[in-house]
Amino acid sequence: MSKVYFIDFKSLRKFKKLLLHAGLDRVVSKNDIVAIKLHFGEKGNRGYVKPEYVQRVVKEVKALKGRPFLTDSNTIYVGERSDALRHRAIARTHGFSLENCGAPIVIADGLRGNSFVEVESGQKHFKKIKVASALYQADRLIFVTHFTGHELGGFGGALKNVGMGGASRTGKYEIHEAVVPKIEKGKCTGCGVCVTWCPAGAINIVKKKVNIDSDKCIGCGECILYCNFGTLSIEWSNLTESEQEKLVEYAYGVLKNKKVLFINFLNFITKLCDCCATTAGPVVPDIGILASFDPVAIDEASVKLVNEVGKRDVFRQLFPGKDWEFQLNYAQKLGMGTRNYELVRI
Ligand code: SF4
Ligand code: SF4
Repeated sequence: MSKVYFIDFKSLRKFKKLLLHAGLDRVVSKNDIVAIKLHFGEKGNRGYVKPEYVQRVVKEVKALKGRPFLTDSNTIYVGERSDALRHRAIARTHGFSLENCGAPIVIADGLRGNSFVEVESGQKHFKKIKVASALYQADRLIFVTHFTGHELGGFGGALKNVGMGGASRTGKYEIHEAVVPKIEKGKCTGCGVCVTWCPAGAINIVKKKVNIDSDKCIGCGECILYCNFGTLSIEWSNLTESEQEKLVEYAYGVLKNKKVLFINFLNFITKLCDCCATTAGPVVPDIGILASFDPVAIDEASVKLVNEVGKRDVFRQLFPGKDWEFQLNYAQKLGMGTRNYELVRI
């Protein structure tokens, strides 16, 4: 059984206690470079974990003489976080800066999302995975997660923050099932930039419009990123259970041989994750903050608390076709943690 520590939002003065009870001092040692992995929030989103909370984590890491930095990886869709320049700009807009948080921002997979280290995973879908290099190179990892609903597995918690967030942009394409980019020919100017960047020689320009040879395309997504006209986009599939397994296998590889602490924020819990602009309000009232060594236990405890407060199976109601237990069971099967937990209220 794993312990999951908890405070509610009326007890924020106990935040340091929460981190120490959860074992921050066993994760961070003097001079460790500590990656604090979070989500800076897509443009228009209001749900991301706010800088004032992140600043508190930074402060405690520094108190243990660690050297923290704030990080996330680039997205596969073209938005405000699809390259490091945009990503840092939106982070700053949302209040994440050295001055506000006390730690610098390093985008984990580099300028264009191609900076990764291959790590042995040895699982069903992946023998090797592509971990965003700054996360691989950091001595210690702290995953600060805003817990939300998510169309992939019903909810998005620590496992998703690690698996999807720890993957380089190329890795994210591997998790994704649909390979060949979708084309909106009306937007194509025929400029040919995508042809230059396609590593598989899959693109040609026919009558001043882009054309992709699906037999050659390897689904790397480079063309999507380099097109400045929004012609190409990812073809979202039905988000299968196989994708959930892949996500968990990525999380397994990211965490391999690492000392890690997980912190889940259960406030402003929305149906969709922080990659989306927030239009709808939260689905349950604010609950509190959890911390644990165990990514499975902390996500299990988070779901249970949400359901307890919502007095219903919230995520099954939000996504009737999704079994939120699937990712937890698969992660447990891979030995990443346990669904059996003890909730310790601080
Ligand atoms: S898809 Fe984009 S980059 Fe490629 S030719 Fe068309 S406009 Fe240019
Ligand atoms: S996804 Fe990659 S391989 Fe496929 S067309 Fe685009 S750049 Fe080429």
